[in-house]
Amino acid sequence: MDVQQLLRFFELAKDYFESNLHELSRLDSVLGDGDHGQSMLKGFLCIQKEVAGKSFGSISELFSAAGRTMMREIGGTCGPLFATIFLQGALVSKGKETLKTEDFARMLRSSCDKIMALGKAKQGEKTMLDALIPAAEDLESSAAKGLDLAEALSSAAKAAKQGAEATKDMRATKGRGRYQGEQSIGHKDPGAMSVALIVQSLADAQKGI
Ligand code: ADP
Ligand code: MG
Repeated sequence: MDVQQLLRFFELAKDYFESNLHELSRLDSVLGDGDHGQSMLKGFLCIQKEVAGKSFGSISELFSAAGRTMMREIGGTCGPLFATIFLQGALVSKGKETLKTEDFARMLRSSCDKIMALGKAKQGEKTMLDALIPAAEDLESSAAKGLDLAEALSSAAKAAKQGAEATKDMRATKGRGRYQGEQSIGHKDPGAMSVALIVQSLADAQKGI
């Protein structure tokens, strides 16, 4: 993936959050305060504004601008947590002109570690991590098998989607969802669904969609 494909990723993500806005808001109104879809869409719209008309010399610069925008523009819990993914992208891609399967594996794995350190959640607590950890593991196994990036990201997108679906049966013990107790069971976590949308956007940008 090069800078142009990464720019396409941010554009696609904005489109996918636009089309999934109502579903994300619905899920967050069951589990939390209903703002998740709006917050994520605002983040990606602000990234579009931030990158418009600028030229980025490297992937790292672009990831860094996106991460800082997300951090600045989205309040609540999810701003710093989702910004982490792009800020880790900036670190992993330093000095690289293109990103390969192993770079994305490293980016998602270090994002999981940072997000766990920030939010003190672990796998199985019905959060974004329940989609992000399976995606990171899937990319690591694809890197070990030597899969090219298009195949690897498509497979990771499936893993993230399955991970997000599986949060339906989980009980929330972190974030606002924890106040719902047993009632949180039966609804997908919106943050996990957002991770699945992001990995799908990466896969589609790599495929040239
Ligand atoms: P807020 O809870 O501030 O309204 P959002 O609604 O935007 O924030 O985001 C909620 C999402 O954030 C949840 O669906 C969950 O995936 C994620 N989340 C909440 N708390 C944590 C945490 N401690 N660790 C990881 N992810 C979390
Ligand atoms: Mg919320």
